[in-house]
Amino acid sequence: MLKIFNTLTRKKEIFKSIEKNKINLYVCGVTVYDFCHIGHGRTFVAFDMIMRYLRYSGFQVKYIRNITDIDDKIVLKSIKEKIDLNVLTSSMIKEMHKDFFSLGILPPDEEPCVTNHINHIINMILILLKKQHAYINEKNDVIFSVDSYPYYGILSGQVLKSLKSGSRVPLNNFKKNPLDFVLWKNSKKEEHSWHSPWGKGRPGWHIECSTITSVFFKNSIDIHGGGSDLLFPHHENERSQSICFNKKSIVNFWMHTGVLMVNNKKMSKSLGNVYLLRDVLKNYNAEVLRYFFLSTHYRHPIDYSEKNLQQSYTSLKYLYTALYNTNPNSDTIEGSHFIDDFHQAMNDDFNTPTVFSIFFKLAKEINFLKKQNMFKANKLSFILRNLANTLGFLLQDPESFLQEKSRLTESMIKKIEYLINKRNIARQCKLWKEADNLRKTLLSLDIVLEDLHDKTIWRKK
Ligand SMILES: [Zn+2]
Repeated sequence: MLKIFNTLTRKKEIFKSIEKNKINLYVCGVTVYDFCHIGHGRTFVAFDMIMRYLRYSGFQVKYIRNITDIDDKIVLKSIKEKIDLNVLTSSMIKEMHKDFFSLGILPPDEEPCVTNHINHIINMILILLKKQHAYINEKNDVIFSVDSYPYYGILSGQVLKSLKSGSRVPLNNFKKNPLDFVLWKNSKKEEHSWHSPWGKGRPGWHIECSTITSVFFKNSIDIHGGGSDLLFPHHENERSQSICFNKKSIVNFWMHTGVLMVNNKKMSKSLGNVYLLRDVLKNYNAEVLRYFFLSTHYRHPIDYSEKNLQQSYTSLKYLYTALYNTNPNSDTIEGSHFIDDFHQAMNDDFNTPTVFSIFFKLAKEINFLKKQNMFKANKLSFILRNLANTLGFLLQDPESFLQEKSRLTESMIKKIEYLINKRNIARQCKLWKEADNLRKTLLSLDIVLEDLHDKTIWRKK
């Protein structure tokens, strides 16, 4: 029985899909004005894991992740760097796809860009105006009125009173309530804009997700996800608009990923500690980064550091070493308590840290059995590989993962292969001492050898 923590009710609830065996999953996507950083990686790897597990559990999942290809940051960057806005966004979308592919993030079923839905957005705003949930201010912006929805603040748990009196929301002459937000923003002449009943302009941020979910899901969403930084105001505002538009709540479960810290500090441009996915992936195997992201429960804060990445590498190495030299094949993965344990952990709000500890127990058992009963070792290897694969792990050949070829220079690989070859010739000539010395030389380079009946394989220590 799957349980999911619902941000709306602040508790773990038994998950039941709206339609039998089908799940509508919506996750707020990237605002494409720059390359993706590790914070994006954490969120989208988490939802990738969730989506993979739901499919593995037999659900037919329709997964939609939008792309915000118009907003203030995009407009500012295109003006500042004198790049055509469409050229900027399409190149950033391409780069995002590259990064996500490297990280093993499966593509969503649909990835709608906001700019392809401007007419739908205008229609939704017209209805919100008609229902008196919005008003037009002196600047000809269309503004959502939070006072028109009595339950505003429920999702994010923010108390309206404290928000009103606090400094978080600056007073603004163009809003009736400081918490009111823009649905349609009038544009300055030179800015990218679209025609609308309120003059040339562009949509506000929150309305895009309300519109896209209404277009793609007909207002019935099992799970709506995003980073915890989106909870307020984005999701609060999105939810309010959608409810006012539909006269009912359309999302059953709200899920949020925890914040990503860098060496226990907030990641921000002003602190200069923003790590791009592409830069981290130059030094680490993508699976190591993916392992790091899921080694902490998706709802908890996670701390990015070299030390923690190294730890993830060591853990993955342990799992691959167990698979190394086994022949994982079997007809079935039935009949092992490890499988039940795996499901129990995943059904408990996708508890990947517990899942990883189950993988460790499996690896330990495989290592033990390798010396006694290869048949059983192969069977457990099959189970380990199968379970890990469902979450996007242990997809590589153990030998190539352990060789870390991507981290070795071309000349180093050549040197290793040369020394192994030399050693094999020495062994064929029964020059055992020389062969042993060559093995020691390789060991001093952190290279471990294993002689199989027809070849010698190597890996990093
Ligand atoms: Zn959104």
